[in-house]
Amino acid sequence: LVSRQHHAERSTVRIGPAGRQVPIGPETCTLIAGPCAVESREQMLEAAQMSRSAGAGLLRGGAFMPRTSPYAFQGLGLKGLEILADVGEATGMPVVTEVVDARDVGVVAEYADLLQVGARNMGNTGLLQAVGEAGRPVLLKRGPSATLEEWLMAAEYVAQRGNLDIVLCERGIRTFETSYRNTLDLSAVPAVQATSHLPVVVDPSHAAGRQDLVVPLARASIAVGADGVMVDVHPFPDQALCDGPQALDGTALRELATAVRRLPPAL
Ligand code: PEP
Repeated sequence: LVSRQHHAERSTVRIGPAGRQVPIGPETCTLIAGPCAVESREQMLEAAQMSRSAGAGLLRGGAFMPRTSPYAFQGLGLKGLEILADVGEATGMPVVTEVVDARDVGVVAEYADLLQVGARNMGNTGLLQAVGEAGRPVLLKRGPSATLEEWLMAAEYVAQRGNLDIVLCERGIRTFETSYRNTLDLSAVPAVQATSHLPVVVDPSHAAGRQDLVVPLARASIAVGADGVMVDVHPFPDQALCDGPQALDGTALRELATAVRRLPPAL
């Protein structure tokens, strides 16, 4: 269902309510930005305003956080969803957030315009089937050690439940290199676009884990034809409760906006 044999033309997935949908597909390069985690209403609003003025079409923010350590900040849960949806509404951006458990898909879908399945859950077939039935577009991240075939088969689980509104997200794979968190596999972008009609975006923030690499990797992602870029943004990265070292501050975000010339001009 996700292959170009089934659907020859590359697809555009439209996110958000009718009348103000944000497209992700071959005609655009969509910027998705926001904090890794929703921490408070003030932090979320400030990050959203920064993102909006840099040209972001979609707002990200984690409420249910899939952390490596069970002792790390796990997100605000339902409260985080409420804040994210309110801030998205106030700033005119549809929102994307992760769902980590199949039992939460219904509630997350009430607040989110785009349901994210994170890298750790790419192979969670029950979750894939549940988001396939949720009536919302899905952002499917590549697992840290998944081949392209495995990633596309995960997308197939979503599609099989009747949902072809799937955006694939390359976010780096596990290699022997330890200088950055993951190795961004940019070959995946044109390789997947050649075999699947689904749009492919890149998350350089979670790939690198380092703020200084995010803008160069975003530029490179666009150069290889990514249909969008998703970045972490925080008004005060050194105070972030989650992944501060990879978050862009206002200055770095403006640099990204300037570098990414295909994105709409700052509002
Ligand atoms: C995220 O986008 O918040 C995230 C945790 O990313 P990944 O699943 O790619 O690690």
